[in-house]
Amino acid sequence: MNPNGLLPRVFDDADRYDSLRREVRAFLRECLDSGSFTPGVDTWLTDWDPQFSRSLAARGWIGMTIPVEYGGHGRSHVERFVVTEELLAAGAPVAAHWIADRQIAPSLMRFGTEEQKHRYLPAIASGECYFGIGMSEPDSGSDLASVRTKAVRVAGGWRLTGTKVWTSGAHRADAFFALARTSPKDAAARHAGLSQFIVDLRSDGIDIRPIISMTGNHHFNEVVMDAVFVADTMVLGNIGDGWRQVTSELAFERSGPERFLSTFALLAAGAEQAGAGCRFGDDIGRLMARITGLHHMSAAVAGALQRGERADSAAAVVKLLGTATEGDIAECADLSLDRGAETSRGRRYRELVDLAILQRPGFTLRGGTTEVLEGVVARELGLR
Ligand SMILES: Cc1cc2nc3c(=O)[nH]c(=O)nc-3n(C[C@H](O)[C@H](O)[C@H](O)COP(=O)(O)OP(=O)(O)OC[C@H]3O[C@@H](n4cnc5c(N)ncnc54)[C@H](O)[C@@H]3O)c2cc1C
Repeated sequence: MNPNGLLPRVFDDADRYDSLRREVRAFLRECLDSGSFTPGVDTWLTDWDPQFSRSLAARGWIGMTIPVEYGGHGRSHVERFVVTEELLAAGAPVAAHWIADRQIAPSLMRFGTEEQKHRYLPAIASGECYFGIGMSEPDSGSDLASVRTKAVRVAGGWRLTGTKVWTSGAHRADAFFALARTSPKDAAARHAGLSQFIVDLRSDGIDIRPIISMTGNHHFNEVVMDAVFVADTMVLGNIGDGWRQVTSELAFERSGPERFLSTFALLAAGAEQAGAGCRFGDDIGRLMARITGLHHMSAAVAGALQRGERADSAAAVVKLLGTATEGDIAECADLSLDRGAETSRGRRYRELVDLAILQRPGFTLRGGTTEVLEGVVARELGLR
């Protein structure tokens, strides 16, 4: 058993980032004071506010790791970590740009052509271009090698036919990365023959159908593609390399502070309620200790990404422990809520609790289920 592979070095001189942290906090304080947003839970998935995204972009807080030549800010993954952590802790409405900033931009930088980079990266960094992820299908979630969306070669490009599901934000996004089969499945090499395409979600042949979640809100979709034309210029990376490319997104997708801070605004609100006779106070110390550990682990992954080191197993650990913690925050808040003695101040708190409870099942599913991540960690430790 080798635990070392799971533990990247925590980045040094954390204090160096304090001034950036203070700057973001001051901005968020101004926003809260002016009422430009109300803290929410799971806002990185559900709270879509293009105006807020643009106001972050104007301060250089989107596309931070995109090089300056592509319209970004050439800053480090650790600096991006500091900014995203503050935004999530405040429960700010960051869903519009989240996926584009978190994993589409790094993938474009790694696998995109110059044309693709110049077309999308500046627009992402200015908070004007939003993306979705087109991986999951009705019978293909954890086992992505089984995707059935097919891309067929035609003059000048490809025609994609198939159905994607649980596509967050597709009804508002400009484009998504679709994973499709470009050559028949080979039982001996299941992960071969997959490719990634940049698909404009306004293309002919696309039908975006809403899936309403338990909260009554619409953020998921089913995206049906019927012979959608994608030009050769919009193939991402190499045909046949889809699996390698998709798995390289995972460290970005799984390790960030959104994997343990989705309900932090609730914990903060609970701490305020504690003085008003709420029993949540008893659990706050334990939950904060878990969050603090996760902060260090997630920061360590940001440092590893900065150094270009492999961090997918460490990212799996962050997601595994982090999503359990954010779910436990929701549960503790729910169990400690005195629903019979609600004051007007308590009403907003109760709404946050109810929302967190309804969003909770998604925490451990999205981005890789708990069981699948346990498998990743077990393999890293040589237990499988
Ligand atoms: C809130 C939310 C947002 C999402 N957004 C997107 C999105 O934008 N784009 C997108 O493409 N997808 C998205 N998804 C889909 C998500 O990636 C899948 O739900 C996830 O990968 C699991 O796939 P599945 O739902 O098909 O479950 P399945 O893969 O069918 O799994 C069912 C059960 O079997 C278990 N299982 C499966 N394989 C194994 C294994 N090898 N070992 C042990 N147990 C196993 C799982 O843990 C689970 O309990 C989203 C999901 C949620 C909840």
